[in-house]
Amino acid sequence: MPATAAAAYRDNVSTMSQDVARYSRQMLLPDIGNDGQRRLLNSTAMVLGCGALGCVVADMLARAGVGHLVIVDRDFIELSNLQRQVLFDENDVADAIPKAEAAKRRIAQVNSGVQVTAIVDDINHTNIERFATGADVFVDGLDNIETRYLANDLAVKSGRPYVYGAAVGTTGMAFTVLPHTSGHAPWETTDAGSLATPCFRCLFEEAPPPGSSATCETVGVIAPAVGVIANFLVAETLKILTGNFERVSRTLLNLDVWANEILQLKVNNAYEDGNCPCCKQRKFEYLDGIAGSSAAALCGRNAVQLRHRQQADGVDLDALAVRLRKHSLVTVNEFMLRTQLSENDKQYEITLFRDGRAIIKGTEEPGIARSVYAKYVGA
Ligand SMILES: [Zn+2]
Repeated sequence: MPATAAAAYRDNVSTMSQDVARYSRQMLLPDIGNDGQRRLLNSTAMVLGCGALGCVVADMLARAGVGHLVIVDRDFIELSNLQRQVLFDENDVADAIPKAEAAKRRIAQVNSGVQVTAIVDDINHTNIERFATGADVFVDGLDNIETRYLANDLAVKSGRPYVYGAAVGTTGMAFTVLPHTSGHAPWETTDAGSLATPCFRCLFEEAPPPGSSATCETVGVIAPAVGVIANFLVAETLKILTGNFERVSRTLLNLDVWANEILQLKVNNAYEDGNCPCCKQRKFEYLDGIAGSSAAALCGRNAVQLRHRQQADGVDLDALAVRLRKHSLVTVNEFMLRTQLSENDKQYEITLFRDGRAIIKGTEEPGIARSVYAKYVGA
């Protein structure tokens, strides 16, 4: 026990400095320093999805000392994930651990000072606000565009930043949303004036038709494409959490690590020039469950029906069949496409109709059906 108040103070300082010593290299950056590190330690980041992007994001945010991570993911780890999902190993595959839980266990070994809340669930409009309680920022690790619209709705409605990112094949995209609020958000009251950006829906107003987008399961993905984008998201998140809003990227990043192309698209006019349903009209259609899809178990049939609330006509079943044939037998006619897939030793049958409606056979769990749909059909 320290004999004097001065000794107690010295002990206290020495303990504190040991606690933050692990962050010393990033604290040398003038934009971070003691104050920035303190902010990180007191922050909560929500990582939406813990696949390839989410793994890198959660790992790096934990190493940087973000005090609380909320990691939400509905999937279990498969052997084919290990090529790019850096928080997982062969033991996790053998033990069939859910991704969110495995991430929590791994992060406890990386930085035991970080609190991790692991949520094994399907993110949808009925639960996202509850999961996001206390989060200062939403970071994208998602595998489908519908949930991105949902995250964007919540970000804009609640005035919290959303760091969007996606990677497939050899390409990736990223954009940081600092929502327009009523002018009270810290990024709207900087010395440089308001730094609010367009939102995700300002850039991509409507979701592409079902089956029209490439997915990692159908066209593949290489880890460096994911890693570059994921680390970009981490840098953006660190800027936000340390209050360096003037450093936040103001362009839509688009890159191809195989073709050696990097584009930074200027998109700031998208807010002023557009009439965004979300951030201009403040209609939160995805959060309110008006847009997007609904899932309903088909009782007694071991199947789930996914139906888009807004009719999507003329889904290109033939183009999707070409991609899916790399995996499995596909039958397609003028009305529908049908294919059988196996995942985690389970068999699923997808039947997709031209209006985007799908029946996923092999499960009665809407979350699993959404997962299979997101992986093989895509937005
Ligand atoms: Zn918008």
